[in-house]
Amino acid sequence: MQNHKKGNIYIISAASGTGKTTLVSRLLKNHDDIRVSISHTTRQPREGEAHGVHYHFVPKEEFESLIEQRAFLEHANVFGNYYGTSIAGVNSLSEEGYDVILEIDVQGAAQVRKSLPEASSVFILPPSFEVLAQRLIGRGTDSEEVIQTRLSKARHEIEQSVLFDYVVVNDDLDRAEADLFHIIKAGRLKKSSQQGFISNLLENS
Ligand code: 5GP
Repeated sequence: MQNHKKGNIYIISAASGTGKTTLVSRLLKNHDDIRVSISHTTRQPREGEAHGVHYHFVPKEEFESLIEQRAFLEHANVFGNYYGTSIAGVNSLSEEGYDVILEIDVQGAAQVRKSLPEASSVFILPPSFEVLAQRLIGRGTDSEEVIQTRLSKARHEIEQSVLFDYVVVNDDLDRAEADLFHIIKAGRLKKSSQQGFISNLLENS
């Protein structure tokens, strides 16, 4: 990294099917100073998902032991499976100077807002509820029952967008990615992020 200041933390949430994962993948591909925290989960890998890349896939017993060891910044039960964000994982990326994205659900977002108030939060909205339903069905990875559960949860999750600092509408992938990047860029210009530079400037005045 070209500078050694700590990276900022960004919570990114959305109702499932909003295209959040695609959006974040594109952002990571285009900006090598932004990283995503790889969560732990007890759910089964989907086709094409790799351990340590998309998630750390762990058995329930191991996840519960990590909860006891207080290894998680937040953890939640989403659709019957545990998901959690490792404190050590986030800290090491941030210490290395990367801006860190936590791609987590609204329950996890509420926990991080409390324990890490300096983190910024972004909620990604679908352009409409119809588009959301189409995306969930078209994805073809989940059973009918899972899709129905996700849809009924989506409205409740979208209502919680008012608790977030920023809202980005994912109607156009390029524009939504640019919006997300501008939020992160603005974070780097906050005076809290520039403290090292300011001190250095004054010391050498
Ligand atoms: P999926 O199983 O489709 O990958 O993710 C289901 C939901 O769990 C998504 O809303 C995703 O953002 C959320 N999720 C993924 N990782 C974490 C995590 O570490 N903590 C929490 N609270 N939610 C997570």
